[in-house]
Amino acid sequence: MTTIASTPQFALTDDQREVRAMVREFADRRIAPHAAEWDRGHTFDRSLYAELAELGLMGVCVPVELGGAGMDFLSYVLAVEELSRADAGVGVTLAVHTSASTLPILHWGTEEQQAEWVPPLARGERIGAFALTESGSGSDAGAMRSTALEGDDGSFRISGTKQWITNGGHAGSFITFARSEPGTTDASGVSCFLVAGDAPGLSVGRVEEKMGLNSSNTVDMVYDGVAVTARDLLGDRAKGFRIAMQTLDGGRITIAAQALGIAQAAFDLAAAYAAERHTFGKAIGSHQGVAFKLADMSVEIEAARALTYRAAALKLAGQPHTVEGAQAKLFASGVARRVTGEAIQVLGGYGYSKEFPAERYYRDAKITEIYEGTSEIQRLVIARKLLGLDVR
Ligand SMILES: Cc1cc2nc3c(=O)[nH]c(=O)nc-3n(C[C@H](O)[C@H](O)[C@H](O)COP(=O)(O)OP(=O)(O)OC[C@H]3O[C@@H](n4cnc5c(N)ncnc54)[C@H](O)[C@@H]3O)c2cc1C
Repeated sequence: MTTIASTPQFALTDDQREVRAMVREFADRRIAPHAAEWDRGHTFDRSLYAELAELGLMGVCVPVELGGAGMDFLSYVLAVEELSRADAGVGVTLAVHTSASTLPILHWGTEEQQAEWVPPLARGERIGAFALTESGSGSDAGAMRSTALEGDDGSFRISGTKQWITNGGHAGSFITFARSEPGTTDASGVSCFLVAGDAPGLSVGRVEEKMGLNSSNTVDMVYDGVAVTARDLLGDRAKGFRIAMQTLDGGRITIAAQALGIAQAAFDLAAAYAAERHTFGKAIGSHQGVAFKLADMSVEIEAARALTYRAAALKLAGQPHTVEGAQAKLFASGVARRVTGEAIQVLGGYGYSKEFPAERYYRDAKITEIYEGTSEIQRLVIARKLLGLDVR
């Protein structure tokens, strides 16, 4: 049996509170007023990248000497939560850029790779993406078919199509997984490569039309013999799958934060509406049926917040966080789905109308139960670790 590390204190420091207040102010002023329009238009305002960079958010938890703001992982989690409260698409844009694209280079990159790839990401001059999933391999990512064929000179040519790539259409840097070991069909033959967005042979395929999260760019990426050298190999050859899984261990904590932000937005909307809307001579919040709903929503949100910050604090302290991150994502994503559904109920007909954002919150919340590992996969991760069956 694996012992769960004791919960560290996660009372926020002054710096963390400051980051949260700064991002909240920015999100309320610059993002929330446009979220409905971006949702309808399926667009992301690219000028936001420069503004997020100006605030230090594109490299929020990257060391200053590599172009970042030098804040800690929990500050970054708070930033994703606050951005997602205004627009979940903006939240995941930052989450994938940071957790899934910048941090792996910091963790596994050589000094040379860090110096070349991290500063442009941390300064927001390049957007990061993470290309693991394919049409035939999502949960079972190790079954990927994309290949990285080695040439006589030690270089590789990557071919295949990656699906559902967040930020893909905007990205200048792709953490790319491909099968470098001919004859393998499982995770053991996968390597991880750093690929520039303008690499010859790399192009955007289909743009995905989704039920929600419309301001987030999601595309197929086509690799047609993209040439990379051995210098672009991240970590050891044939050890790429471990990089993917450990990256997702941390990424999940920020998806939990995204879920938390969406749930908080839905609660705030429902609570305000319950105070204003009157039926049978009183505010609907005075009817016990509605008041209890709001009470239950608030409890779920606070429980999700505690799990999420706990997982972030463990990662920040350099402690194991695979189970805690999966627990946080599993719980917070369910809370987001339930709370956004209840918010629609509290708003009644207006909840179902595009006049209010409750329906957008509901559509956006659902994805948090799917990407960076579905809820079923989170349960597998948790159970395997706790039962000592983990094979990684
Ligand atoms: C909007 C969006 C953005 C995304 N962004 C990215 C990205 O940036 N980069 C990237 O690489 N990927 C990305 N993904 C892919 C995402 O991570 C996968 O969709 C997800 O992991 C699920 O894989 P799948 O869709 O192939 O579902 P499948 O693996 O086919 O699963 C289908 C169903 O079967 C269940 N299931 C599968 N295996 C098991 C099992 N062993 N036990 C129990 N149940 C099981 C699943 O839980 C699910 O309910 C994104 C997806 C979406 C929708």
